Amino acid sequence: MRCEICGKEREFLFLIETEGTKLLACQNCSSYGRVIKKVREQQNNTASGPGIRTLTEQTSKKPSQPDFELAPDYAERIRKAREKTGLTQEQVAAKIYEKESIIQRIEKSKMHPSESIAKKLENLFNINLFEEVKNIAPPAPKGTADFTLADMIKSKRKK
Ligand SMILES: [Zn+2]
Repeated sequence: MRCEICGKEREFLFLIETEGTKLLACQNCSSYGRVIKKVREQQNNTASGPGIRTLTEQTSKKPSQPDFELAPDYAERIRKAREKTGLTQEQVAAKIYEKESIIQRIEKSKMHPSESIAKKLENLFNINLFEEVKNIAPPAPKGTADFTLADMIKSKRKK
């Protein structure tokens, strides 16, 4: 290990403090400051500068994607939206290139719209037919805190 003042290689050094700065100095240079302790080659706790924080493996993990599920009141949402626009079931069917009977069945909750139909209806009426299903995720370990924050900032910038 090397003396941080004169640069000489020594088997052991002294951790000294001078003007608030901690340095590793050889026996000769230790007189520059107040000797705190003797440091041997094997020891790594040099206290010279802050330690480098290692990144946790968690940072590469993506947060679980939210699941979306057809809203339980999808039929009502569609019917209300349609009535608002004044369109008949037939007209709606024509607009999204589906059969009128399909619209009727969907509005009566007798049929779940396929994802493509639901999307077409969403676009047509400018409504939401899907709801986010909240995943019961375990609390994030402390190691991911930095990532979560960075991710939050990123998503804020997008908006
Ligand atoms: Zn020295």
